[in-house]
Amino acid sequence: MELVEVGVSTFNRRFRVQLDDGAAVEAVLYRGDTLCVSSQVGCAVGCSFCASGANGLSRALTPAELWGQLDAVRALGATVTRVTVSGVGEPLHNHAAVRDFVLRCRAERIAPSLTTSGGPIERLIEWLSLPHNGLTISVHAGTEETRKRMVPRGPSLAALFTCLTEQLPLQSRSRRKKLALAYLLVAGANDSDAELTAFAERALPLGQPVHLYAYNPVPTSQHLPVSRARYEQVYAQLREAGLTVRMSSQARIEANGGCGTLLALRTSRSA
Ligand code: SF4
Repeated sequence: MELVEVGVSTFNRRFRVQLDDGAAVEAVLYRGDTLCVSSQVGCAVGCSFCASGANGLSRALTPAELWGQLDAVRALGATVTRVTVSGVGEPLHNHAAVRDFVLRCRAERIAPSLTTSGGPIERLIEWLSLPHNGLTISVHAGTEETRKRMVPRGPSLAALFTCLTEQLPLQSRSRRKKLALAYLLVAGANDSDAELTAFAERALPLGQPVHLYAYNPVPTSQHLPVSRARYEQVYAQLREAGLTVRMSSQARIEANGGCGTLLALRTSRSA
């Protein structure tokens, strides 16, 4: 495995992780201490806004490749205190390797979190109880029609919210504090008042916080972000609806960070 720095900005350092079979994924070091790692080469979920899954899934990363991303960044001198499995890939589709990685992080006093589109639901149920430090579930829609467009091969909103409605009351208060929903605002795709109202109606009974992400397009993106004014308006609208809402941090707004911006290259030794 080899690490190549491909971008640097005020808060972030972005790396291409060259794997031994010729495939590559990306990792981002946020604010010098938080590492976002990839869990698969590509992704099968196919989110419409996401560069990571644009070419489908090639393969899952091995446990050694997951840990190798952390080791390689630490070898550059970074003191990593938090990791998030939120880069290329759906972590729940590489469940065993990601679980082992998360447990090893905790054993080494590195706080692990992950971001998932929520499926398979049986895995989500398992992750609600596993000892992570944060689980963010990407929702990105208020209606099934939009969910199907935004997260085509993720679970439906009905399946997701039924699961959370049943499972969250079984969780302790401290476990529930580690769970959040995510809504990535994409212009013309999921930013209408009706869509947001529908999302708020589903999310409110759960009582979990919502991360409202600003979209950070890459050159190949088919979508555009909403304006800053609209982003702030939606933030206010969701809060007014009774939700606890967190805005994107500056590090995630930068060109080298942000949901769905990391790239995967399939195996191509000869390319
Ligand atoms: S946003 Fe996540 S789940 Fe969706 S295609 Fe990209 S990597 Fe996969």
